[in-house]
Amino acid sequence: MDHAITRSTYDEVMFPNYSPAGFIPVRGLGSRVWDQDGREFLDLAGGIAVNALGHCHPDLVAALTEQAGKLWHVSNVFTNEPVLALARRLVELTFADRVFFCNSGGEANEAAFKLARKYAVDHFGSDKNEIISCTNSFHGRTLFTVTVGGQPKYTEGFGPVPGAVSHVPFNDIDALKAAISDKTCAVVIEPVQGEGGVSPADRAYLEAARRLCDGHNALLIFDEVQTGMGRTGSLYAYMEYGVVPDILSTAKSLGGGFPIGAILATDKVAKSFVVGTHGSTYGGNPLACAVALCAVNIISRPEVLAGVKVRHDRLETGLMALNARYQVFRKVRGLGLLLGCVLQPAFAGRSRDFLKAAEAENLMVLVAGADVVRLAPSLVIGEADIDEALRRFDAALARFTGA
Ligand code: PLP
Repeated sequence: MDHAITRSTYDEVMFPNYSPAGFIPVRGLGSRVWDQDGREFLDLAGGIAVNALGHCHPDLVAALTEQAGKLWHVSNVFTNEPVLALARRLVELTFADRVFFCNSGGEANEAAFKLARKYAVDHFGSDKNEIISCTNSFHGRTLFTVTVGGQPKYTEGFGPVPGAVSHVPFNDIDALKAAISDKTCAVVIEPVQGEGGVSPADRAYLEAARRLCDGHNALLIFDEVQTGMGRTGSLYAYMEYGVVPDILSTAKSLGGGFPIGAILATDKVAKSFVVGTHGSTYGGNPLACAVALCAVNIISRPEVLAGVKVRHDRLETGLMALNARYQVFRKVRGLGLLLGCVLQPAFAGRSRDFLKAAEAENLMVLVAGADVVRLAPSLVIGEADIDEALRRFDAALARFTGA
Protein backbone atom coordinates (compact mmCIF):
# COMPACT_ATOMS: atom_id res chain seq x y z
CA MET A 1 0.00 0.00 0.00
CA ASP A 2 1.26 3.53 -0.76
CA HIS A 3 1.45 5.86 2.22
CA ALA A 4 1.97 9.62 2.33
CA ILE A 5 4.14 9.10 5.41
CA THR A 6 6.76 6.35 5.33
CA ARG A 7 9.82 5.31 7.30
CA SER A 8 11.98 7.30 4.89
CA THR A 9 10.07 10.46 5.92
CA TYR A 10 11.81 9.95 9.25
CA ASP A 11 15.22 10.25 7.65
CA GLU A 12 14.17 13.40 5.83
CA VAL A 13 12.63 15.47 8.61
CA MET A 14 13.64 14.13 12.02
CA PHE A 15 16.83 14.74 14.00
CA PRO A 16 19.09 11.75 13.49
CA ASN A 17 19.41 10.92 17.21
CA TYR A 18 17.28 7.76 17.01
CA SER A 19 17.29 4.84 14.63
CA PRO A 20 13.74 3.46 14.76
CA ALA A 21 12.65 0.10 13.34
CA GLY A 22 11.66 -0.24 9.73
CA PHE A 23 7.90 -0.34 10.29
CA ILE A 24 5.55 2.37 11.58
CA PRO A 25 3.05 1.25 14.24
CA VAL A 26 -0.36 2.84 13.77
CA ARG A 27 -2.60 0.98 16.23
CA GLY A 28 -2.30 -1.05 19.41
CA LEU A 29 -4.58 -3.15 21.58
CA GLY A 30 -3.41 -5.03 24.65
CA SER A 31 -0.05 -6.56 23.75
CA ARG A 32 -0.60 -6.45 19.99
CA VAL A 33 0.46 -3.66 17.63
CA TRP A 34 -0.34 -3.20 13.93
CA ASP A 35 1.74 -1.31 11.38
CA GLN A 36 0.65 0.78 8.39
CA ASP A 37 0.12 -2.32 6.27
CA GLY A 38 -1.88 -4.22 8.89
CA ARG A 39 1.06 -6.43 9.88
CA GLU A 40 0.57 -7.56 13.46
CA PHE A 41 3.31 -7.58 16.11
CA LEU A 42 3.51 -8.94 19.65
CA ASP A 43 4.84 -6.30 21.98
CA LEU A 44 7.33 -7.35 24.65
CA ALA A 45 8.92 -3.88 24.60
CA GLY A 46 6.02 -2.04 26.22
CA GLY A 47 7.19 1.36 24.98
CA ILE A 48 10.36 0.86 27.11
CA ALA A 49 8.57 -0.22 30.29
CA VAL A 50 5.84 2.40 29.88
CA ASN A 51 2.69 0.65 28.65
CA ALA A 52 2.11 -1.20 31.91
CA LEU A 53 -1.51 -1.94 31.01
CA GLY A 54 -0.86 -2.61 27.34
CA HIS A 55 -2.15 -0.49 24.50
CA CYS A 56 -5.50 1.31 24.70
CA HIS A 57 -6.63 -0.24 27.98
CA PRO A 58 -10.35 0.61 28.03
CA ASP A 59 -10.25 2.18 31.50
CA LEU A 60 -7.33 4.43 30.55
CA VAL A 61 -9.04 5.41 27.31
CA ALA A 62 -12.18 6.25 29.30
CA ALA A 63 -10.22 8.29 31.88
CA LEU A 64 -8.40 10.19 29.13
CA THR A 65 -11.46 10.93 27.01
CA GLU A 66 -13.56 11.92 30.00
CA GLN A 67 -10.91 14.37 31.19
CA ALA A 68 -10.31 15.57 27.61
CA GLY A 69 -13.86 16.86 27.55
CA LYS A 70 -13.45 18.71 30.84
CA LEU A 71 -10.11 20.44 31.40
CA TRP A 72 -6.65 19.90 29.88
CA HIS A 73 -4.34 22.44 31.36
CA VAL A 74 -4.38 25.39 33.74
CA SER A 75 -0.69 25.52 34.88
CA ASN A 76 0.40 25.58 38.50
CA VAL A 77 -0.87 29.10 38.94
CA PHE A 78 -4.05 27.15 39.66
CA THR A 79 -4.36 23.65 41.03
CA ASN A 80 -6.79 21.01 39.78
CA GLU A 81 -8.76 18.03 41.06
CA PRO A 82 -6.96 15.18 39.20
CA VAL A 83 -3.51 16.27 40.44
CA LEU A 84 -4.67 16.38 44.04
CA ALA A 85 -6.45 13.04 43.79
CA LEU A 86 -3.35 11.43 42.24
CA ALA A 87 -1.00 12.93 44.84
CA ARG A 88 -3.26 11.75 47.67
CA ARG A 89 -3.36 8.23 46.21
CA LEU A 90 0.45 8.06 45.83
CA VAL A 91 0.86 9.28 49.40
CA GLU A 92 -1.60 6.60 50.62
CA LEU A 93 0.25 3.86 48.76
CA THR A 94 3.89 4.73 49.53
CA PHE A 95 6.35 6.01 52.16
CA ALA A 96 5.93 9.54 50.83
CA ASP A 97 4.14 12.49 52.41
CA ARG A 98 4.35 14.74 49.37
CA VAL A 99 4.55 14.62 45.60
CA PHE A 100 5.97 16.93 42.92
CA PHE A 101 4.84 16.34 39.33
CA CYS A 102 6.66 16.81 36.05
CA ASN A 103 6.53 15.16 32.63
CA SER A 104 9.27 12.54 32.30
CA GLY A 105 11.80 10.44 34.14
CA GLY A 106 14.69 12.72 33.36
CA GLU A 107 12.78 15.70 34.70
CA ALA A 108 11.87 13.74 37.83
CA ASN A 109 15.52 12.93 38.49
CA GLU A 110 16.57 16.50 37.74
CA ALA A 111 14.10 17.57 40.43
CA ALA A 112 15.34 14.86 42.81
CA PHE A 113 18.98 15.92 42.49
CA LYS A 114 18.13 19.62 42.85
CA LEU A 115 16.01 18.82 45.91
CA ALA A 116 18.83 16.82 47.50
CA ARG A 117 21.25 19.74 47.03
CA LYS A 118 18.72 22.25 48.34
CA TYR A 119 17.87 20.14 51.37
CA ALA A 120 21.55 19.79 52.23
CA VAL A 121 22.15 23.54 51.90
CA ASP A 122 19.09 24.29 54.02
CA HIS A 123 20.08 21.91 56.82
CA PHE A 124 23.87 21.52 56.71
CA GLY A 125 25.38 24.32 54.60
CA SER A 126 26.62 24.68 51.04
CA ASP A 127 29.69 22.40 51.42
CA LYS A 128 27.42 19.38 51.52
CA ASN A 129 26.77 19.08 47.80
CA GLU A 130 28.32 15.85 46.54
CA ILE A 131 26.18 13.30 44.74
CA ILE A 132 27.27 9.67 44.53
CA SER A 133 25.86 7.48 41.81
CA CYS A 134 26.68 4.07 40.33
CA THR A 135 28.68 3.22 37.26
CA ASN A 136 26.52 1.95 34.44
CA SER A 137 23.44 3.70 35.82
CA PHE A 138 21.00 5.72 33.74
CA HIS A 139 18.99 8.66 35.05
CA GLY A 140 17.88 10.62 31.97
CA ARG A 141 19.20 12.94 29.27
CA THR A 142 19.27 16.41 30.80
CA LEU A 143 22.79 17.69 31.44
CA PHE A 144 22.54 17.06 35.20
CA THR A 145 21.03 13.59 34.77
CA VAL A 146 23.54 12.40 32.16
CA THR A 147 26.26 13.62 34.52
CA VAL A 148 24.84 11.68 37.45
CA GLY A 149 24.23 8.70 35.16
CA GLY A 150 27.18 6.34 35.14
CA GLN A 151 27.70 6.00 31.38
CA PRO A 152 30.32 8.44 30.05
CA LYS A 153 29.12 7.98 26.44
CA TYR A 154 26.08 10.13 27.30
CA THR A 155 28.11 13.15 28.45
CA GLU A 156 30.73 13.04 25.69
CA GLY A 157 30.61 16.25 23.68
CA PHE A 158 28.29 18.04 26.11
CA GLY A 159 30.70 19.46 28.67
CA PRO A 160 31.32 21.27 30.85
CA VAL A 161 29.07 19.20 33.06
CA PRO A 162 27.84 19.97 36.59
CA GLY A 163 30.42 19.22 39.29
CA ALA A 164 30.50 17.33 42.60
CA VAL A 165 29.22 14.10 41.06
CA SER A 166 31.11 10.83 41.50
CA HIS A 167 30.50 7.19 40.61
CA VAL A 168 31.09 3.92 42.44
CA PRO A 169 30.68 0.36 41.16
CA PHE A 170 27.11 -0.94 41.51
CA ASN A 171 26.49 -3.50 44.28
CA ASP A 172 29.88 -2.81 45.88
CA ILE A 173 29.31 -1.94 49.53
CA ASP A 174 32.98 -1.28 50.30
CA ALA A 175 33.30 1.17 47.41
CA LEU A 176 30.27 3.11 48.62
CA LYS A 177 31.62 3.09 52.17
CA ALA A 178 34.93 4.48 50.93
CA ALA A 179 33.31 7.19 48.79
CA ILE A 180 30.64 8.56 51.15
CA SER A 181 31.50 11.40 53.49
CA ASP A 182 29.86 14.23 55.38
CA LYS A 183 30.06 16.24 52.13
CA THR A 184 27.75 13.76 50.43
CA CYS A 185 24.25 15.15 50.00
CA ALA A 186 22.77 12.15 48.19
CA VAL A 187 23.35 8.62 47.02
CA VAL A 188 21.34 7.70 43.92
CA ILE A 189 20.56 4.10 43.00
CA GLU A 190 18.33 2.29 40.52
CA PRO A 191 17.05 -0.78 42.44
CA VAL A 192 17.34 -2.62 39.13
CA GLN A 193 19.69 -0.99 36.63
CA GLY A 194 17.50 -0.95 33.55
CA GLU A 195 19.30 0.68 30.62
CA GLY A 196 22.58 -0.56 32.09
CA GLY A 197 21.67 -4.20 31.45
CA VAL A 198 18.77 -5.19 33.77
CA SER A 199 20.95 -5.80 36.84
CA PRO A 200 19.09 -6.07 40.15
CA ALA A 201 20.70 -4.58 43.25
CA ASP A 202 21.54 -6.94 46.09
CA ARG A 203 19.31 -6.43 49.12
CA ALA A 204 22.40 -6.11 51.33
CA TYR A 205 23.67 -3.32 49.06
CA LEU A 206 20.52 -1.25 49.37
CA GLU A 207 20.43 -1.88 53.14
CA ALA A 208 24.05 -0.76 53.43
CA ALA A 209 23.34 2.33 51.32
CA ARG A 210 20.47 3.21 53.68
CA ARG A 211 22.71 2.81 56.74
CA LEU A 212 25.59 4.78 55.20
CA CYS A 213 23.29 7.63 54.16
CA ASP A 214 21.83 7.80 57.66
CA GLY A 215 25.32 7.83 59.14
CA HIS A 216 26.34 10.81 56.99
CA ASN A 217 23.08 12.79 56.87
CA ALA A 218 22.83 12.09 53.16
CA LEU A 219 19.59 11.41 51.33
CA LEU A 220 18.98 8.08 49.64
CA ILE A 221 17.36 8.55 46.23
CA PHE A 222 15.87 5.58 44.41
CA ASP A 223 15.41 6.11 40.70
CA GLU A 224 12.33 3.97 40.12
CA VAL A 225 11.54 5.41 36.70
CA GLN A 226 11.89 1.96 35.15
CA THR A 227 11.19 -0.29 38.18
CA GLY A 228 8.23 1.74 39.31
CA MET A 229 4.55 1.04 39.21
CA GLY A 230 4.30 -2.70 39.43
CA ARG A 231 7.12 -3.69 37.10
CA THR A 232 8.87 -5.84 39.73
CA GLY A 233 5.66 -7.31 41.14
CA SER A 234 5.52 -4.74 43.95
CA LEU A 235 4.12 -1.27 43.36
CA TYR A 236 7.66 0.05 43.73
CA ALA A 237 10.85 -2.00 43.93
CA TYR A 238 11.75 -0.47 47.32
CA MET A 239 8.80 -2.42 48.72
CA GLU A 240 10.19 -5.63 47.22
CA TYR A 241 13.55 -4.93 48.90
CA GLY A 242 12.22 -3.54 52.19
CA VAL A 243 14.53 -0.50 51.99
CA VAL A 244 12.85 2.91 52.08
CA PRO A 245 14.42 5.90 50.28
CA ASP A 246 14.06 9.60 51.15
CA ILE A 247 13.25 10.58 47.57
CA LEU A 248 11.85 8.34 44.83
CA SER A 249 11.59 9.30 41.18
CA THR A 250 8.87 7.73 39.05
CA ALA A 251 7.60 8.12 35.48
CA LYS A 252 7.13 5.61 32.61
CA SER A 253 4.38 3.22 33.88
CA LEU A 254 2.91 5.95 36.09
CA GLY A 255 0.93 7.29 33.15
CA GLY A 256 0.46 3.95 31.39
CA GLY A 257 1.67 5.65 28.19
CA PHE A 258 0.62 9.24 28.87
CA PRO A 259 3.68 11.40 29.68
CA ILE A 260 4.03 12.14 33.39
CA GLY A 261 6.81 12.02 35.97
CA ALA A 262 6.98 12.67 39.69
CA ILE A 263 9.16 12.66 42.75
CA LEU A 264 7.88 11.34 46.04
CA ALA A 265 9.46 12.45 49.30
CA THR A 266 9.02 12.73 53.02
CA ASP A 267 7.54 15.94 54.37
CA LYS A 268 10.85 17.04 55.89
CA VAL A 269 12.71 16.76 52.58
CA ALA A 270 9.92 18.15 50.40
CA LYS A 271 9.83 21.30 52.54
CA SER A 272 13.05 22.49 50.90
CA PHE A 273 11.18 23.19 47.67
CA VAL A 274 9.61 26.39 48.99
CA VAL A 275 7.56 28.61 46.69
CA GLY A 276 9.51 29.57 43.59
CA THR A 277 12.40 27.09 43.99
CA HIS A 278 11.35 24.65 41.28
CA GLY A 279 8.56 24.19 38.78
CA SER A 280 7.18 22.88 35.51
CA THR A 281 4.47 24.45 33.36
CA TYR A 282 2.85 21.15 32.44
CA GLY A 283 3.71 19.31 35.67
CA GLY A 284 0.53 18.00 37.30
CA ASN A 285 -1.73 18.84 34.36
CA PRO A 286 -5.26 17.43 34.70
CA LEU A 287 -5.09 15.27 31.56
CA ALA A 288 -1.95 13.37 32.59
CA CYS A 289 -3.05 13.08 36.21
CA ALA A 290 -6.49 11.71 35.37
CA VAL A 291 -4.91 8.96 33.28
CA ALA A 292 -2.20 8.27 35.88
CA LEU A 293 -4.74 8.02 38.70
CA CYS A 294 -6.57 5.38 36.70
CA ALA A 295 -3.30 3.54 36.00
CA VAL A 296 -2.24 3.65 39.67
CA ASN A 297 -5.62 2.37 40.82
CA ILE A 298 -5.42 -0.62 38.48
CA ILE A 299 -1.72 -1.45 38.93
CA SER A 300 -1.91 -1.27 42.74
CA ARG A 301 -4.60 -3.99 42.91
CA PRO A 302 -3.15 -7.03 44.70
CA GLU A 303 -4.29 -9.36 41.91
CA VAL A 304 -2.50 -7.27 39.26
CA LEU A 305 0.75 -7.24 41.26
CA ALA A 306 0.48 -10.97 42.00
CA GLY A 307 -0.18 -11.50 38.28
CA VAL A 308 3.18 -9.90 37.45
CA LYS A 309 4.96 -12.69 39.33
CA VAL A 310 2.87 -15.39 37.63
CA ARG A 311 3.67 -13.90 34.21
CA HIS A 312 7.35 -13.57 35.16
CA ASP A 313 7.49 -17.31 35.88
CA ARG A 314 5.76 -18.25 32.64
CA LEU A 315 7.97 -16.01 30.53
CA GLU A 316 11.20 -16.93 32.30
CA THR A 317 10.46 -20.66 32.14
CA GLY A 318 9.75 -20.36 28.42
CA LEU A 319 12.93 -18.37 27.82
CA MET A 320 15.03 -20.88 29.73
CA ALA A 321 13.54 -23.74 27.71
CA LEU A 322 14.39 -21.94 24.46
CA ASN A 323 17.85 -21.19 25.71
CA ALA A 324 18.43 -24.84 26.56
CA ARG A 325 18.04 -25.46 22.82
CA TYR A 326 19.89 -22.46 21.40
CA GLN A 327 22.52 -21.69 24.10
CA VAL A 328 22.46 -18.00 23.20
CA PHE A 329 22.07 -16.49 26.67
CA ARG A 330 24.47 -16.71 29.59
CA LYS A 331 21.56 -16.05 31.94
CA VAL A 332 18.16 -14.45 32.22
CA ARG A 333 18.00 -11.89 35.03
CA GLY A 334 15.69 -9.21 36.36
CA LEU A 335 12.60 -8.93 38.52
CA GLY A 336 8.94 -9.28 37.64
CA LEU A 337 8.35 -8.19 34.07
CA LEU A 338 11.68 -6.46 33.59
CA LEU A 339 13.87 -9.21 32.19
CA GLY A 340 17.33 -9.14 30.68
CA CYS A 341 18.65 -12.01 28.55
CA VAL A 342 22.42 -11.71 28.73
CA LEU A 343 24.17 -12.89 25.57
CA GLN A 344 26.84 -15.57 25.74
CA PRO A 345 30.37 -14.32 24.98
CA ALA A 346 30.11 -15.91 21.51
CA PHE A 347 27.26 -13.47 20.72
CA ALA A 348 28.72 -10.46 22.58
CA GLY A 349 27.81 -7.06 21.17
CA ARG A 350 24.98 -8.45 19.02
CA SER A 351 21.82 -7.53 20.95
CA ARG A 352 20.69 -5.22 18.11
CA ASP A 353 20.96 -8.09 15.63
CA PHE A 354 18.55 -10.05 17.80
CA LEU A 355 16.18 -7.07 17.85
CA LYS A 356 16.17 -7.16 14.05
CA ALA A 357 15.62 -10.93 13.98
CA ALA A 358 12.67 -10.45 16.36
CA GLU A 359 11.23 -7.70 14.14
CA ALA A 360 11.38 -10.09 11.19
CA GLU A 361 9.34 -12.54 13.28
CA ASN A 362 6.74 -9.88 14.23
CA LEU A 363 8.01 -9.51 17.77
CA MET A 364 8.94 -6.25 19.52
CA VAL A 365 11.75 -6.46 22.08
CA LEU A 366 14.34 -4.07 23.52
CA VAL A 367 18.03 -4.04 24.12
CA ALA A 368 19.85 -2.85 27.24
CA GLY A 369 23.32 -2.19 25.92
CA ALA A 370 25.07 -4.31 23.32
CA ASP A 371 24.96 -7.56 25.29
CA VAL A 372 21.46 -7.76 26.74
CA VAL A 373 18.05 -8.35 25.16
CA ARG A 374 15.50 -6.65 27.41
CA LEU A 375 11.82 -7.49 27.81
CA ALA A 376 9.34 -5.13 29.50
CA PRO A 377 5.87 -6.27 28.41
CA SER A 378 2.50 -5.17 29.67
CA LEU A 379 1.91 -6.21 33.29
CA VAL A 380 -1.41 -7.70 32.23
CA ILE A 381 -0.26 -9.52 29.10
CA GLY A 382 -2.42 -12.62 28.59
CA GLU A 383 -1.14 -16.19 28.84
CA ALA A 384 -1.89 -16.85 25.18
CA ASP A 385 0.09 -13.75 24.17
CA ILE A 386 3.08 -14.87 26.28
CA ASP A 387 2.98 -18.28 24.61
CA GLU A 388 2.70 -16.78 21.14
CA ALA A 389 5.52 -14.33 21.95
CA LEU A 390 7.69 -17.28 22.98
CA ARG A 391 6.93 -19.04 19.68
CA ARG A 392 8.06 -15.93 17.81
CA PHE A 393 11.08 -15.65 20.11
CA ASP A 394 11.93 -19.23 19.14
CA ALA A 395 11.76 -18.31 15.44
CA ALA A 396 13.84 -15.18 16.09
CA LEU A 397 16.50 -17.23 17.87
CA ALA A 398 16.60 -19.64 14.93
CA ARG A 399 17.05 -16.70 12.56
CA PHE A 400 19.64 -15.06 14.85
CA THR A 401 21.76 -18.17 15.22
CA GLY A 402 21.23 -19.32 11.64
CA ALA A 403 19.87 -22.62 13.01
N1 PLP B 1 15.76 6.81 34.93
C1 PLP B 1 15.69 5.54 34.52
C2 PLP B 1 16.03 4.45 35.49
C3 PLP B 1 15.29 5.23 33.21
O1 PLP B 1 15.23 3.95 32.82
C4 PLP B 1 14.98 6.29 32.33
C5 PLP B 1 14.58 6.02 30.94
O2 PLP B 1 14.84 4.99 30.38
C6 PLP B 1 15.05 7.60 32.80
C7 PLP B 1 15.45 7.83 34.11
C8 PLP B 1 14.73 8.76 31.91
O3 PLP B 1 13.36 8.83 31.70
P1 PLP B 1 12.78 9.73 30.49
O4 PLP B 1 13.26 9.11 29.23
O5 PLP B 1 11.29 9.64 30.69
O6 PLP B 1 13.30 11.10 30.70
